[in-house]
Amino acid sequence: MSYLAQPIGIFGGTFDPVHFGHLRIALELQQAYNLAEIRFIPCWQPVHRALPVATPEQRLAMLACAVANESTLKVDDCEIQRRKPSYMIDTIETLREKFPNTPLCLILGVDAWSGFATWQRYETILRLSHLIIAQRPSYPLPEMGTVAVLLQQHLKQDASTLRESLGGNIMLHPVTSLEISATAIRNQITQGQDPRYLLPESVYDYIVKHHIYYSRE
Ligand code: ATP
Repeated sequence: MSYLAQPIGIFGGTFDPVHFGHLRIALELQQAYNLAEIRFIPCWQPVHRALPVATPEQRLAMLACAVANESTLKVDDCEIQRRKPSYMIDTIETLREKFPNTPLCLILGVDAWSGFATWQRYETILRLSHLIIAQRPSYPLPEMGTVAVLLQQHLKQDASTLRESLGGNIMLHPVTSLEISATAIRNQITQGQDPRYLLPESVYDYIVKHHIYYSRE
């Protein structure tokens, strides 16, 4: 069996703001699958949810603060540069062109995975990249419907399979459960509470300096 290059992880989200829940699962998955890097890709405007509070540039800057000292965690501004509602298929196609011989691994929380079959051209996403589902004990996997069938058909146990094809496999990986959410952090700041220890200090410093999340939208 000939192996392809070390896979690249792709972690999309709103990151409004990025917090230790995101960073911890990125690090755990990077180590577990020996990923060359993980690219955090903040959306410009999410398709499936309310508009973020921080601007795209602020979310990008907070991510840059968060990964400044991490050699394998990167920030990719491709969705923000596109200035269009962010569809994952566009991002995956862009990265596939940029890295024609490198397996891509799209990282999804179970919440995102549960809605995966509603994403635009989800079958093409799964053909062009692998999926790694970060499993937290409090989020059960759907047992019925399209995603349950996809999981049955594409699930692999062995991490080395990620280097045998450019895409098409799904891995399930239990991750440390940190019950942190960006919504709770935003609410704490709006209510005048201190969110320290839920997110990197450098990110909180940026929030304070730029006075983000202090007023109710
Ligand atoms: P919000 O509270 O605004 O919905 P969030 O904290 O869920 O935000 P997102 O940017 O929406 O953050 O999340 C991006 C991805 O990170 C999603 O796939 C989500 O499942 C995952 N994620 C979010 N919080 C955590 C956490 N505490 N632990 C592990 N994964 C998380």
